[in-house]
Amino acid sequence: MAQSTVTSTPVTDVIEKAQAGEALSASDGYVLMRATGSKLASVMRVACESSESVRPHRRVTYSRKIFLPLTNMCRDRCGYCTFVKGPNQKGVHTMTPDEVVEVARKGAKLGCKEALISLGDHPELRHPEMQQNLDDLGYGSTPEYVAAISELVFRETGLLPHTNCGTLDNAEMAAIATWNASMGIMLESTSMRLHEPGGAHFGTSTKEPAMRIATLDTAGELGVAMTTGILIGIGETLDERVDALLAIRDVHQRHGNIQEVIIQNFRAKTSTRMNKAPEPSTVDMLRTLAVARLLLGAEMNIQAPPNLNSDGAGAYLLSGINDWGGVSPLTKDFINPEAMWPEIPQLRELTAEAGYELRERTVLYPEYCATGWRLAKPLAARLSEMTEPDGYVRSDLEWVK
Ligand code: SF4
Repeated sequence: MAQSTVTSTPVTDVIEKAQAGEALSASDGYVLMRATGSKLASVMRVACESSESVRPHRRVTYSRKIFLPLTNMCRDRCGYCTFVKGPNQKGVHTMTPDEVVEVARKGAKLGCKEALISLGDHPELRHPEMQQNLDDLGYGSTPEYVAAISELVFRETGLLPHTNCGTLDNAEMAAIATWNASMGIMLESTSMRLHEPGGAHFGTSTKEPAMRIATLDTAGELGVAMTTGILIGIGETLDERVDALLAIRDVHQRHGNIQEVIIQNFRAKTSTRMNKAPEPSTVDMLRTLAVARLLLGAEMNIQAPPNLNSDGAGAYLLSGINDWGGVSPLTKDFINPEAMWPEIPQLRELTAEAGYELRERTVLYPEYCATGWRLAKPLAARLSEMTEPDGYVRSDLEWVK
C-alpha cells in the first residue's frame, strides 16, 4: 500500500500528465487532492473532459431497483451505521422468502429491473438468534440463504439480483454469483487508523481492507462484475482516500471486474457513535470525485448517490461522474433512510441541466452487457431481453416516472 507523502510537484504538472492520458501515481493523487481555487476548478474540468472523451453520447445512467434488506443483523458494529440492529432491538428483521417475493413482484410491476439484496455480514457468527432464523428457514448460513433468495427473486419476477452481503469466500461467492448479474462490496477505506479506539471501524473485523480486497479478488477470479467504492468523511485523510482508490485500481488491473466505483459521502446519524462528526462538504465531494476520475481513468464508471446531497448533487456531473446508482420508486434507502431518492423526472432534469442525458441501465453496465460478461445462461438470456444491443435498457421498457 502506498505511503502518504506530500511532494512539491506543481499541480499544473499533474494536470498536464492527466490530460495526456498518463497513469497517475499515488503522489500525483496526493497533489491533486490538495488543489484549491482555480487549480481545483482545473482538476474538475480535466476530470469532466476525461469522462466525456469516452462518452460522446453524454449519457448518465441509473438503475431502477427495489431494495431488499434481507436481514439487518450483522457481525460488526461500524461507527456510522444505523442499518444494523441487535437481535433484541426494535426494528430487527430478517425477511422471509414470502416477504421478499411480495416486494419483488410489486417492483417488477413498477418497471424495476434490479433487486438489490443488501444485508449485514455473516450475522450468525455473532448472534445465535440469526442461526436459529436460518435453521427455521432451512439454511446453514446467511450466504446460503442469500443464494436461495437470489434464485427465488429471479425465477419469480425476472428482476436481476445484485447482492451486497460483505466479505465472502470462494464457495460462498460462487453460489451467490450463479443467481446475481453483478455483486458489490464497498472497500470504504484502506486506512488501518480507522480501526484504532475511537475510529469508525474500531472493533470491526470485516472492514479490514485486506479482507475486502480479498473478496474483490475472489470475485475477479470467478468472473463476477463488481461494484465497490470509498466512503469519505469517516476520519480518513485526503492521502488515504487516494490510497484506497489506487487499491481499487490495482484490483481492476488484476482482473478487469470492477464495473463501477462509488464515491459515497458520510452522513452523521443520531444513535451512532459518529453522530457529531462533520459531514463532507459539496466541495470535498467535487474534489474527491474529480481525483477519482483522473486516478481510475476515463473508462471507469464512477457513481455518486444523488440522495445524499440533494442540493449539490447536480454539480457532481462537472467532476466527471457518469452514474447515479440505483433509484427506487417503491422502497427506501435502508442504509440512509432519512435520504429520499429523487423522482426519475427530477433526476432527468438535474442531469439535463448540466448538459447530459439520463438513461436507464441494468445492474450490469452497458459495456459489460455488450461483451457478454461471464453470466449464467438464464441471467444472460433475461439481460438480453431487457437491453438494446448497446447494453442500455430497451427504450420501450424505460419508465418515465
Ligand atoms: S456498515 Fe455494514 S458491516 Fe458495518 S455494522 Fe453496518 S451492516 Fe455491519
